[in-house]
Amino acid sequence: MTAKLIDGKAVSAAVREKITADVASFISKSGVTPALAVVVVGSDPASAVYVRNKHKACLAVGIRSIEYALSEETTEEELLSLIEKLNRDDTVHGILVQLPLPKQIREDSVLRAISPLKDVDAFHPENVGRIAAGKPRFLPCTPAGVMELLAYYDIPTDGKECVIVGRSNIVGKPLFHLMLGANATVTVCHSHTKNLAEITRRADILIAALGRARFIGADMIKPGAVVVDVGINRLPDGKLAGDVDFDAASEIASYITPVPGGVGVMTVTELLKNTLTAAKIAVFGEDAV
Ligand code: NDP
Repeated sequence: MTAKLIDGKAVSAAVREKITADVASFISKSGVTPALAVVVVGSDPASAVYVRNKHKACLAVGIRSIEYALSEETTEEELLSLIEKLNRDDTVHGILVQLPLPKQIREDSVLRAISPLKDVDAFHPENVGRIAAGKPRFLPCTPAGVMELLAYYDIPTDGKECVIVGRSNIVGKPLFHLMLGANATVTVCHSHTKNLAEITRRADILIAALGRARFIGADMIKPGAVVVDVGINRLPDGKLAGDVDFDAASEIASYITPVPGGVGVMTVTELLKNTLTAAKIAVFGEDAV
């Protein structure tokens, strides 16, 4: 392996140490403990793991975490009424509804119902618009995690060619805005993109977020490129793999993120930051944050 490893666990530990200190300082100034409400509907096993991780991470940095586990049969009306209650609750600062939702509930109407001031996932249209306008209130968690990893390793983005593979609302699109804000020249590819390898080979920074195990091979990477793998794919043998063929790519890249232990762990770290920001907004007002 010639590439340097971008160690998400180490970066995350350093950032969480800082968040722990910031939470303690906020509590001593305000007398308020930041609190995150996590709503999970149904019994998707992957969601259960994510929710448990978020809960543990909150407790470790001094954030209160309240879980609402609703049955698979919950109606949209019932979920909206819980969100309304949480919107009004002054002791709750961040609200997160774990996706995916059961079929009878429209994701859009749920995400729109969360108060934009408590929207720690940054999925509400108002927050999406603010990200696009370059004036984010909350940074979207996974894209923010990618930016934090690059910054930690002093990897420059200014004037660099960045290629993002994947254009989802959760990863690809918001990452486009953050990379553009960091002065990269950004190309976003998707399933209709022609000559994908030709485009990815132009990238100084290549970000894979397409959800296809080991899809990005060495032939798609420019020698010396920084390769960030957002993908988390479950293989038939139960193991996890990213969207990048790690062994091949690490022979040609200058930096690379592993899966697991790369971007994934940063996502929860950014959620903790957003929850603290939401609590600061609630207590001191938006202008003071
Ligand atoms: P989506 O399925 O919502 O989006 C996938 C995107 O990749 C789409 O834009 C799709 O194009 C594009 N795509 C799919 N196949 C190809 C292909 N063969 N060539 C080019 N583009 C392609 O996925 P998400 O964005 O939600 O997630 C992507 C990956 O990241 C998944 O593995 C997911 O598990 C992981 N993930 C990891 C997170 C973390 O914390 N690290 C958080 C969120 C996601 P089109 O739009 O044309 O369909």
